[in-house]
Amino acid sequence: MTASDAPVLTPVVGTLHALQVPIPYPMKTVTVLLDKPEDGGPVTMVDTALDTPEAQTAIAAGLSELGLGWGDVERAIITHHHPDHYGLAGVVEARSGADVQMLDVEIGRGERYWHLWEEWLPGHLKHMRDHGLPQESLESMGADNRRGRDRVQPAQHVTPLREGQNVTLTGRDWEVLWLPGHADGHLGLWNAEGGMLIAGDAILPRISPNVGLYAYTRPDPLGDYLQTLGKLEALNPAQAVVGHHGPVMTGVQARARELRGHHHERLDFIKAEAGREPRSAYDLSLAMFNRDLNVSGRRFALAETLAHAEHLRLLGQLYRTWQEEDGRWIYHA
Ligand SMILES: [Zn+2]
Ligand SMILES: [Zn+2]
Repeated sequence: MTASDAPVLTPVVGTLHALQVPIPYPMKTVTVLLDKPEDGGPVTMVDTALDTPEAQTAIAAGLSELGLGWGDVERAIITHHHPDHYGLAGVVEARSGADVQMLDVEIGRGERYWHLWEEWLPGHLKHMRDHGLPQESLESMGADNRRGRDRVQPAQHVTPLREGQNVTLTGRDWEVLWLPGHADGHLGLWNAEGGMLIAGDAILPRISPNVGLYAYTRPDPLGDYLQTLGKLEALNPAQAVVGHHGPVMTGVQARARELRGHHHERLDFIKAEAGREPRSAYDLSLAMFNRDLNVSGRRFALAETLAHAEHLRLLGQLYRTWQEEDGRWIYHA
């Protein structure tokens, strides 16, 4: 059997199907969900992938397997604003008039970021520079950000969803959850009777979802994420549909505990390193991610280190001082 004979869609539950859409990132694919309900409810896409020709082809193939085209999509629910989940939102909206929906928190922060991008990019880069990113890396990081921006088509209008409200998918009720950390307004959809969670990147089976502090994020993303892990542990879903390395994972409760332990280890590491030798978050990130990384890998490493350092600072376990001569923040015990 060749790859082209492989089924395009994986059934998830009822009329809900998962599509593995290629993305030019290390995870290789992102999960896009398609629902064509039998009861006449809206044809729905959950997440839209990045705007590349390969992703558009894969989504068209998935739609066609359900007897649909782009113009039939009536609703697009987006788990969070990251380019690999949100990139085609504006294209889906333009081709079908679909109602694009996100959690209210995410519209006000992440989604708006794409519209105000030209204003926000300098602030984003300054934030990285203030935390120690060397001047020579700033330009390549700006260029890398621009490449990512080119693959995002923001929606003209986004309808807010609120935590606790119900949406109907595959003829069932799903409760809207707020799962912040990986993104400020990360949304989950929870079907209690089936014990199933649509999780996006809030939890992933093989990699630790990046938890990063950027110029435009809430002040303590790691604190948010540790609370989200507690929420997931208490919810104890039988299955979760995940954004990468899925489409479906089990053992969410154990994975949530494992990820919490992982972040606690990193907190201990940062606290010890900054205590031993006061340093910028960038220099701490070189110690925590002590390997060769490309420019976007370095950005994630810095943002992730910063999320840990700031969490410790907000807990009163670490301090930071502005160093005038180098123009950067230094973390110390
Ligand atoms: Zn993401
Ligand atoms: Zn993702």
